[in-house]
Amino acid sequence: MPPPPAPSHHRRLLRVRLQRRHPAPAPCPPPAPPMPPSTPAESWRGGVDDAVRWRWTPSGEYTTRSAYKALQLGRTTFSDAERIWKSWTPLRVKLFFWLATRERIWTADRRRRRGLEAHDLCFLCDQENKTANHLIVSCPVAKEVWWRVLTWANCQCNFLDGEASVQDWWEHLLSLQLPGRRKGVCSLFMIIGWHLWKERNARLFEHSASSTTMLVIRIQQEADLWIAAGARKLGDLFCE
Ligand SMILES: [Zn+2]
Repeated sequence: MPPPPAPSHHRRLLRVRLQRRHPAPAPCPPPAPPMPPSTPAESWRGGVDDAVRWRWTPSGEYTTRSAYKALQLGRTTFSDAERIWKSWTPLRVKLFFWLATRERIWTADRRRRRGLEAHDLCFLCDQENKTANHLIVSCPVAKEVWWRVLTWANCQCNFLDGEASVQDWWEHLLSLQLPGRRKGVCSLFMIIGWHLWKERNARLFEHSASSTTMLVIRIQQEADLWIAAGARKLGDLFCE
């Protein structure tokens, strides 16, 4: 039988091009090693029924206490949380303080951070840049209100030097009081901060400004209402 004819130059070029466009597939990876034999604890035991175990107690039995603890895993703590949520205070005021202590109320600094228009000066003193800490703690108008209301309620009051946060001021103020009066002071603290915020909003949105004396009177009236509504610890501040 005669040998096949040698491929022409044209066919060799065609084969090379086809090999470049469609390269040969990569070789298959080697097979995975066999799985190790299971340990006796993992092995299936015939004739034994499955059992449901609660993983959060050593005994495997469910308890409400262990479920509650499991829900708390990974949580972050906030030192002011107990003071805010356990005080005798209306919910809207608690929510305000929850935001204020975390610098989440819409003061000028926060508005600027979000790219919103903001006024440069404090609505109460017309001097400083507005932050939650300034409005509630460091503002000269706020300090006068704190002093007059705390003196009226027979509470100790001296101010921290320099800028302080709401948390620092709250903690400092409580440290000045006798332990039995601290719950009442927490309620009073939130009334004062809440009314400073309301006064700021009245000046901003309603163009209505009250004098410091009027602001103090409103705070005193609100404290009387809270006491009448059941704020016993707040009422105790006035019993000595
Ligand atoms: Zn101010």
